[in-house]
Amino acid sequence: MRYEAVIGLEIHAQLRTKTKIFCGCSTEFGSEPNSQTCPVCIGMPGVLPVLNKRVVEFAIKTGLAMNCRISPYSRFARKNYFYPDLPKGYQISQYELPICEHGYVDIVVDGVKRRIGITRIHMEEDAGKNIHERDCSLVDLNRTGVPLLEIVTEPDIRSPKEASAFMRKLRTILRYLEVCDGNMEQGSLRCDANVSLRPEGSEEFGTKTEIKNINSFRFVEKALEYEIKRQEKVLSEGGTIVQETRLWDSERGVTFSMRSKEEAHDYRYFPEPDLVPLVVKEDWIEEIKSSMPELPDEKLKKYTEEFGLPQYDAELLTEERPIAEWFEEAVRLGGAPKEVSNWMMTELLRLLNENNIEIISCRVTPEHLVKIIKLIEEGKISRNIGKKVFADVFQTGKDPEEIVKEKGLVQISDTSELQRLVEEVLKNNPKEVERYRGGEQKLLGFFVGQVMKASKGKANPKAVNELLRKKLSS
Ligand code: ADP
Ligand code: ZN
Ligand code: MG
Repeated sequence: MRYEAVIGLEIHAQLRTKTKIFCGCSTEFGSEPNSQTCPVCIGMPGVLPVLNKRVVEFAIKTGLAMNCRISPYSRFARKNYFYPDLPKGYQISQYELPICEHGYVDIVVDGVKRRIGITRIHMEEDAGKNIHERDCSLVDLNRTGVPLLEIVTEPDIRSPKEASAFMRKLRTILRYLEVCDGNMEQGSLRCDANVSLRPEGSEEFGTKTEIKNINSFRFVEKALEYEIKRQEKVLSEGGTIVQETRLWDSERGVTFSMRSKEEAHDYRYFPEPDLVPLVVKEDWIEEIKSSMPELPDEKLKKYTEEFGLPQYDAELLTEERPIAEWFEEAVRLGGAPKEVSNWMMTELLRLLNENNIEIISCRVTPEHLVKIIKLIEEGKISRNIGKKVFADVFQTGKDPEEIVKEKGLVQISDTSELQRLVEEVLKNNPKEVERYRGGEQKLLGFFVGQVMKASKGKANPKAVNELLRKKLSS
């Protein structure tokens, strides 16, 4: 029997607000444990939460970007459970009335577009962190009350590859909106994956398991691949899947059972009595809408349809907003889109990568690149020299025209100078000249190479080619 995988994701995104969701404590990461706490976030009796407006704004932005309906009326709820990192004994979350519902995100996998439904997006507070040492456990409450968005997808995902493509797309959107930095390794973006199998062609869903503790994009795929294989084996041997929560162990590359449905929590949700219901007015939604940047999907459409870029280029250039904006600036300054894209995808991204530099702190500006492209088009420098100039600008931030002038890199198109170089090369390689004249035409490339070398890369290759042909056939 062949099985089809059914996958739904539950994502937690830490919001990049300056302060926590219900108090004025800083959300900054990496400070001294328990230094960013107050009576509200450590759950002292008698204190009252005050909702951070910025959190609601970020939730609405995210909802709009994911094509959700924004609820005019939503409500916070208490999710009750006991754990040392949760001093109040409950987490303030949203339950039956979340702020965003009924959205979707489009992804492209292997050239096929897939639409993944977004069931809901709600706001909640993060818990603290337990730190286990050899003979004791410690609690750090700096993270308690840091705002989170929980984003839940419909069970619309059909493969591990689609799941990781979805996560990447989600991160791209969150980063475009500047609401979350999207770092899975550092835990600012976390993902629980629900997966079940069903016989191919069947409409019904099978029993699912939930995988927690996935902390990289690669592991989303790996954990799901493992879990699908495991369920396949159980089912094909006539067994049944137990509904349970499993943990991903990245070192061993396996998932293992954490708790079954029977041990599952009953959170006794009820409306949060310390907060009034949240009413969002239409004009605030409109205001937020008009403040939103152009999103990756719109850019992708523009790049392929208006700029004529291949899908591959467009996807790569739209993945990060600063890269997309750099590209668009170069095009605005007159660079041909495909030419700019080629330079960015090869030289620029490679140099950024090698030097571990973000594009926002890069010394090459779109203006520099457009100048280099122009120098090549006008025949002032060769493409190879252009690449060297680009690398030079990358290091120094100097103007390309100045570098060309200073280093004497202007291409030699002057015939008398080239003539001299060609004659010298032919004189120094009499055997090759004889072989060429005897019919080995492919030696032309060798001569061109020698002349280029003698000119330190500055000879105009086209002119060299012509001159060589003429001299060799005479
Ligand atoms: P639970 O009651 O366990 O919280 P939900 O219905 O709230 O389950 O769904 C939680 C997540 O699991 C969602 O992302 C949803 O898409 C996904 N999901 C639900 N049922 C299945 C299933 N049978 N197989 C895979 N994923 C599922
Ligand atoms: Zn606080
Ligand atoms: Mg649920």
